[in-house]
Amino acid sequence: MDYGYQRMYINAERVDAQSGQTIDVFDPAFGTVIARVPQGNSSDIDQAVRSARHCFDSGVWPGRPARERERILLDLAQIIRRERDILAQTEVKDCGKPLADALADIDEAAFILEYYGGWVTKLNGEIPPTNPEAMSLIVKEPIGVAGLIIPWNYPFLMAIQKIAPALAAGCTCVLKPAEQTPLTALALPKYLEEALLPPGAVNIVTGYGDEAGEALVKHPGVDMISFTGSLEVGRHIQKTAALQIKRVTLELGGKSPNIVFADTNLDDAVAKTCFGVFWNQGEVCSAGSRVIVQEPIYDEFLDRVDNYLSSIKMGCGTHPDTTMGPLISLEHQKRVQEHVKSAYKDGAQCRAKGTLPDDSALIHGYFVEPMVFTNVDMTMRIMREEIFGPVMAVMPFSTEDEAVTLANDTPYGLAAALWTNDIKRALAVAKKLRAGTVWINDSQPAPSEAPWGGYKQSGQGRELGRMGLEEYLETKHIYINLNRGINTPE
Ligand code: NAP
Ligand code: MG
Repeated sequence: MDYGYQRMYINAERVDAQSGQTIDVFDPAFGTVIARVPQGNSSDIDQAVRSARHCFDSGVWPGRPARERERILLDLAQIIRRERDILAQTEVKDCGKPLADALADIDEAAFILEYYGGWVTKLNGEIPPTNPEAMSLIVKEPIGVAGLIIPWNYPFLMAIQKIAPALAAGCTCVLKPAEQTPLTALALPKYLEEALLPPGAVNIVTGYGDEAGEALVKHPGVDMISFTGSLEVGRHIQKTAALQIKRVTLELGGKSPNIVFADTNLDDAVAKTCFGVFWNQGEVCSAGSRVIVQEPIYDEFLDRVDNYLSSIKMGCGTHPDTTMGPLISLEHQKRVQEHVKSAYKDGAQCRAKGTLPDDSALIHGYFVEPMVFTNVDMTMRIMREEIFGPVMAVMPFSTEDEAVTLANDTPYGLAAALWTNDIKRALAVAKKLRAGTVWINDSQPAPSEAPWGGYKQSGQGRELGRMGLEEYLETKHIYINLNRGINTPE
C-alpha cells in the first residue's frame, strides 16, 4: 500500500512545508518507502502556533460552552470507532506492530476521547471557607497553547492521549508526531472536521525533532510542552523550556523490574512476565526487561520462558499469525544489536532465542529475534540501559530485601511488577518500589482512567486519569470583597 504524499494541517488547511522539503516514511516490515510527508521547520511551527494562539485567544475554543466541547470530543470518539480498521491498518504499515495490537490502540484512543469528553462538563471550581466578609473563588482555566511531542511506538494512541486532555481543558494545540510514524496523525484532520472542531484548535506539523520539535519548545507563543520520548531529549527539552519557565510534562524511558517470588502462580507469572518484555517488540517504555526471580523457582522459570520464546511468531503485522513485528527503523535495529553485543562482551549468556521470519519477502525488514540473557549483574549495560527491543535479562535473588534493592537500583522509575500469592508481602513491597506504577500479579495494564508517569528520571507530571487533565489547567483565585460589591451603597 502506498500512502503517497500527505500534507500537514495548519488552521484547518492541508499545507506543504514552506521549505518544500519532505521526509520519506518507511514500512519497517519490508524496509520500503510507503509515503512522504512535509519536513516542517521553525517557519511552519510559527504558523501553526499562530493558528493555535488565535483559536485560543479569540475564545473560539475555550469560550465555547462546555457541553458543546464535550459533544465534539464524544463525536470524534465515535468517528474513530467507525474508522478503526483503516486506522489500525495504517498504523501497522507505519510502525510494524501486529494488527490486533494496533486495533487495541485505536479502541483505547477512542475511549480516551470519551473519558476526557466526560470531564469537560465536570470541571468545577472550589469555594474555600475564608473570611465571611469575602468570598474566594478557585477556578480552573486552560493553560493556553500546548505543544505536544510524541514518539513512534504508539503513534495514534500517544497523539490522542495528549490531544484529548488538551482539548478537554480548553487548550488549543500543535502536535509534532515522530518523524518515523506520522501517518495516523495525518489521517486525523478529516475526522476533526467531521466532528466540527473549529479551525486552529488542533494543528499538526511533521518534521524532525531538532528542527520542528525544537522550534515548538522555544516558541514564546506556546504555554506548555507535553513530551513523551527518551530521557536524553526530555532533559534537553526541560533545559530549553526553563528559559521561559514554560510548563513541561515529561514521559520518559524506563528499565522496569519484574520481581517473581517463589510462592507465585508460575503459569501466570511466566506468561505475563514474557508478555511484559516482548509485546510491541519490546518497544515499550514500561517493558519489564529486568526480571528478578527467587532462587527456588529460578530454573523452572527459565525453562518455561524457553517455551514462551518458541511460541513467538515474528512477521509482518498484517499477517493473522504474527505476534511480533519488526523494530521501527534500521537505525533502531542497529542500536538494539549493539546492546546485544555489549551483553555478550560483559559476560552475559544468551539462554534462548526466538526465530526470525522465514518469509523471504521480509528480508529487508528491521527484525531482531527475541532473546533471553542470564548470568547478568547490575553493573552491566543490559541491566542499566533502556534497550527498547525484545531483550529480557533474568537474575536470581534470595530475600525480599535483596529483591527491593535490586529493583530500585536504576535511575528510572516508570513501572515495576511483582508476583506473589502473599497479599501482605505484595503491599509491603509495592510501597517500597520507587515507581509511578506498580503491578501486583500483572504486567503492563495501564487503564486510561488512572494516572501514568514516572518517579526519578522517568519523567515528571502525569498523563491519563484526572491528573493528566490537570496538567493542561491553570488555577486562578478570584477574591471578592463582599463589603464593597458594585451595588453596595456607600
Ligand atoms: P525521542 O528520540 O526522544 O523522540 C521523541 C519525540 O521527540 C520525537 O517526535 C522526536 O522527533 C522529538 N525530538 C527529538 N529531538 C527533539 C528536540 N531537540 N526538541 C524537541 N523534540 C525533539 O524518542 P523516540 O526514540 O521517538 O521514542 C522512544 C523513547 O520514548 C523511549 O525512551 C521510551 O521509553 C520513550 N517512551 C516513553 C513513554 C512513557 O509513557 N513514559 C511512552 C512511550 C515511549 P523525531 O521524530 O525527529 O525523532
Ligand atoms: Mg526518534
